[in-house]
Amino acid sequence: MRQKFVAGNWKMHGSKASVEALMAGLIKQADQAGAAKIAVCPPSLYIDQVVTALRNAGCENIAVGAQNMTTEPDSGAFTGEVSARMLKDVGCEFVILGHSERRAMFAETNEVVAEKVKTALENDLTPILCIGETLAEREAGKLEAVISEQVEAVLSVVGIDAFAKIVIAYEPVWAIGTGKTASADQAQEVHAFIRGQLAKSNPQVAEKVVIQYGGSMKPVNAQELMAQPDIDGGLIGGASLKAEDFIAICQAAGA
Ligand code: PEP
Repeated sequence: MRQKFVAGNWKMHGSKASVEALMAGLIKQADQAGAAKIAVCPPSLYIDQVVTALRNAGCENIAVGAQNMTTEPDSGAFTGEVSARMLKDVGCEFVILGHSERRAMFAETNEVVAEKVKTALENDLTPILCIGETLAEREAGKLEAVISEQVEAVLSVVGIDAFAKIVIAYEPVWAIGTGKTASADQAQEVHAFIRGQLAKSNPQVAEKVVIQYGGSMKPVNAQELMAQPDIDGGLIGGASLKAEDFIAICQAAGA
């Protein structure tokens, strides 16, 4: 049985003051969050503040992740970049990789994303690998081809066994930040397709892989989505910026 996993992607939102307030809210309600694994992924600059807030409060059921990192694992002349080793050093357990905003706005290809996944794994970070189709791709009947390519690119670099340590987030691009959620049936169909694709290489590993849904998940739709057999949690954008909404989604995961 896979443990549900809910992660908050704060994107490029926050200030020292708002992070303090959000963490205070999350810490206060953390013991009501239920049985799901929980993580928050703040902008890199605020990771240390978040880790410190959790440590000072003795809050152990919220893990921390980053939203991106470079392919270079350690340190060097890579101005502006953040490495896997640095993320580990400041207390990250997870790193979101291949988010559609990075693919679209920062030209991250499947190959670059696969390299980042490999680097994350080599540095003991769990990648949250984002995949998903655009509306144009879905309408052109290319959904399965796009998803297959995104998965295959990583599979060919890290191999199937590594997927036991990878979280996949299926995020239809047309549902991210738009208020348009995939229906539970639409999402389940793609999640089953992803698991089926992995099962062709190794059914036991495929059964273990946690596949989150992401795209306008909110307290009102979270329970129905996460009740689907292949939906193992959520990657939450907008709703993760409000402590009550995020905790309500975590509760729905356990419902
Ligand atoms: C995301 O950015 O990963 C996301 C799912 O955003 P939202 O929940 O706001 O659609």
